[in-house]
Amino acid sequence: MRNTPDNAVQPIAMTGTGGIDRDAGRRIDEAWLGAAWSHPTTRVFVVSSGRALIEDTADGRTELVTMPSFDAPLTEAHRYYLGTGPDGVRYFALQKDELPGRMDQAARPAGLREAAALLDDRDAALLVHAIALENWQRMHRFCSRCGERTVIAAAGHIRRCPSCGAEHYPRTDPAVITLVTDEEDRILLGRQMHWPEGRFSTFAGFVEPGESLEEAVVREIEEEVGITVFDPRYVASQPWPFPSSLMLGFLASTRTTEIRVDGEEIEQARWFSRDTLRAAIESREVSPPSGISIAARLVERWYGGPLPRP
Ligand SMILES: [Zn+2]
Repeated sequence: MRNTPDNAVQPIAMTGTGGIDRDAGRRIDEAWLGAAWSHPTTRVFVVSSGRALIEDTADGRTELVTMPSFDAPLTEAHRYYLGTGPDGVRYFALQKDELPGRMDQAARPAGLREAAALLDDRDAALLVHAIALENWQRMHRFCSRCGERTVIAAAGHIRRCPSCGAEHYPRTDPAVITLVTDEEDRILLGRQMHWPEGRFSTFAGFVEPGESLEEAVVREIEEEVGITVFDPRYVASQPWPFPSSLMLGFLASTRTTEIRVDGEEIEQARWFSRDTLRAAIESREVSPPSGISIAARLVERWYGGPLPRP
């Protein structure tokens, strides 16, 4: 999904479909899945503990290492059907205890944070889908209703309980992430105690049961920095399967500027104008959010383009 034109700076990494149709209706059709798996154009990649093999191509791109299904190491693996590309190619992931060895030295294992910044939309979308499923599978092996061990169904998208018949679906935990601006169009960034020195970012927190997204934005900012915000505006979302979050990016405004950090999660928070942020980055005093994170996109959107480099 892209931002709407009036607030577009750039799309947020990992939110594009990359042209993949998830084709959810096919997941329970075992005969169809068997035929799709065996089709000669089908491509397969392996995920293991949040990592997959990637490799650089001769023309300077980076790709997921995929293989035809007849080469794929199906034994001791869980098979996830991820969807169909615009060219009709079906994509599967195999979840295994280890990544396969490769004769080709160009291939290297990479986690999603590294890989998503390098891969094109299609491969990033496939990888984020597979890793999100793997994370969920790993943590939901037992039925939350009766405690029995569950089995995988629907090509990786359901866990079924053989004892009580319950069906369990992949979980996504919503979290709000907010860029706060004051009346002078300055932004508020904070740092957590355990972060590397100088690192500042936007504020984030999980949505609580019975809470709206807007309420979560207001509560989080109040709790962490003692600032009352109003008018939370949704900007964009980003799947964040570390292990199972969906980050919902918001802007919010405030008329108060006095900061009261909670001293538990947030140890320091500061207001930045564009000039003070640029100077703080260039002097290496502040390291802003970077990489694939939605926090970086929110700050860039306010800044008006890519942030300066130190
Ligand atoms: Zn059960």
